[in-house]
Amino acid sequence: MVTAIVGANWGDEGKGKITDMLSQESDIIIRFQGGSNAGHTIINNYGKFALHLLPSGVFYNHTTCIIGNGVALNIPYLVKEMEEVMAKNVPKPRILVSDRAQLVMPYHIKFDEYEEERLGKASFGSTKSGIAPFYSDKYAKIGFQVSELFADEKILRDKIARVCVQKNVILEHLYQKPAINEEELYQTLRKYKEMVEPYVCDTSAFIQKAIKEGKRILLEGQLGTLKDPDFGIYPMVTSSSTLAAYGAIGAGIPPYEIKKIVAVVKAYSSAVGAGEFVSEIFGKEADELRKRGGDSGEFGATTGRPRRMGWFDAVASRYGCKLQGATSVALTVLDVLGYLEKLPVCVGYEIDGKVTKEFPATTSLAKAKPVYEILPGWKTDIRGIRNYEELPENCRNYIEFIEKELEVPITMVSNGPNREDIIYRNMEKKEIL
Ligand code: GDP
Repeated sequence: MVTAIVGANWGDEGKGKITDMLSQESDIIIRFQGGSNAGHTIINNYGKFALHLLPSGVFYNHTTCIIGNGVALNIPYLVKEMEEVMAKNVPKPRILVSDRAQLVMPYHIKFDEYEEERLGKASFGSTKSGIAPFYSDKYAKIGFQVSELFADEKILRDKIARVCVQKNVILEHLYQKPAINEEELYQTLRKYKEMVEPYVCDTSAFIQKAIKEGKRILLEGQLGTLKDPDFGIYPMVTSSSTLAAYGAIGAGIPPYEIKKIVAVVKAYSSAVGAGEFVSEIFGKEADELRKRGGDSGEFGATTGRPRRMGWFDAVASRYGCKLQGATSVALTVLDVLGYLEKLPVCVGYEIDGKVTKEFPATTSLAKAKPVYEILPGWKTDIRGIRNYEELPENCRNYIEFIEKELEVPITMVSNGPNREDIIYRNMEKKEIL
């Protein structure tokens, strides 16, 4: 049984917390796209963690965590992150790395930096983890698969030489930066081989066998629908698909095996980096929400950058759920809204004088103005509540209003950053998986 846990918004919806929670009942947790460019904050009995590359299932003894073929694999980062969690007394995680995953090379990180520098004000707001150059090379067929680390020396050296010709022209002429040293790169890859060797296998075969054996499997998404390169706010998107459908490719499983899709939806909006954001708020109103947001304020887990804030956007979130193919929704960070008298919800976009409930492509989106419906606040702290019926009436009304707009059942309501801060609604935990 495969369940995907994915974001319906711009990322930072709390997927890490939901994955950590559902991992208790799962056997295998897989990252299928992205790299170390976004973080999942998790608070559990071992402490507080910001995971970037490791799947959020690493905190249990019984789980196997997989870096799928679709991931941008930064090997030193993976090793560092494993050491970091073990330093906080988490038992050594059982990790498998796909032999078909490709490597984030040191020059990908450099190219990411140089390009953002070159773009100046027009930059993407990249986390400079090398992700865009990595995926560009993967699809230009000049990337390095993990399996190539195990190739004969001559084959690997020849490929390095071929790739360096191209890279060094750009380094010299576009960026005026030092060239890549082929020998140094070869030695780096040898080190990478040693570091990753204990974990490498054909993960697709491993997962397909596990599916046959009836194991419970989670696919953990990074970022959200609105950062998907096809369906997001292009070009201010990420470079790999953030959709559950891509889980089939990025993990190497048949698409029909993904039976359930939990879209994680945040009770208000937040985004990092540049791009269209229709229900964005500014000034004091935004500062207040930012300060209270998440578990310790809305600052990116990778960069520490302040997140952009906004009211709940039903147009974007319904679209986000639809493209994910959500079978249920986990509504997160609801507790943060307990200070507000009134809650604006964006229920439509006004574009060229017409109101629409459909999320358009970027050129139209750039012209969209939010149409709000105002709901009354509940003005109480809802943390600690475990039964849906005990939530204040206005809070339940907010949830049910959002559910109607999303057209997907909200089965989980998260009212705090900890593992146990969760309310199951109309469905038991085991039915969600
Ligand atoms: P992810 O990338 O989707 O896993 O999300 P992040 O970890 O980047 O951001 C979510 C933030 O919200 C983290 O700081 C979480 O600890 C926190 N968080 C998750 N769920 C809740 C919740 O229900 N209430 C509060 N207050 N914080 C939450």
